[in-house]
Amino acid sequence: MGKITLDIERYDPDKKAQFFQSFQIPWEKRDMTVLEGLFYIQENMDDSLSFRTSCRSAVCGSCAMHINGQHRLACNTLFSVLKTNKVTIRPLAHLPVQKDLCVDMSPFWEKYEKTMPYLMPGSPPPEEERIQSEGQRAEIDVVIDCIQCACCYSSCPVTLTSKDYLGPAALLKIDRFLKDSRDEAKGKRLETADSPFGVWRCHNVYNCQRSCPKKLDPPRSIVNIKRGILGKELRP
Ligand code: SF4
Repeated sequence: MGKITLDIERYDPDKKAQFFQSFQIPWEKRDMTVLEGLFYIQENMDDSLSFRTSCRSAVCGSCAMHINGQHRLACNTLFSVLKTNKVTIRPLAHLPVQKDLCVDMSPFWEKYEKTMPYLMPGSPPPEEERIQSEGQRAEIDVVIDCIQCACCYSSCPVTLTSKDYLGPAALLKIDRFLKDSRDEAKGKRLETADSPFGVWRCHNVYNCQRSCPKKLDPPRSIVNIKRGILGKELRP
């Protein structure tokens, strides 16, 4: 099937050197993914190439990186979809690079943690489980699929210019719990979002929506949270 050239932005932490390195690899099969290309390099050309991966099924979110101009998951990005045999790969933006394509996710997790990303029911656990109706469960269907890959965070220009901005994934998580019928900490959650570095810092650029590999819609969540802060009815 021919050859593919991968231009990879690398970082050597010992020498503090950032540089591009080009690798030409065989395009082994029609459905070859970018992740398989990276493994080919690691196994056959340069075993010092570093990148993160785990599930290979677009579930863990760990192989997020910048591929030909967009943040994507390497495991579910086919070379055939990129429609070119020249691919440029960089680490996620707006996060400190540790080595090659591995970034330090701490700033992302610190903001995520601020959203209290767990159920706060306000009453002791029942005998068996907290029951939800089908309709109540459907309310959170849209927002529950976030895999914390940080593609949205790294695509957002505001996370670059405002280091304390919570960012799209954290705000989407707040919306996820606002929509959960079992959660009783809605006031606290709205308070977290109603800050200079919460929903009001969003500039409606929509890069987060375009880059989300799970087709989630953080701008919609941000609008929903604003409605909650203003005392209006929340939307599904
Ligand atoms: Fe990734 Fe989408 Fe969740 Fe952002 S909202 S962290 S892009 S899955």
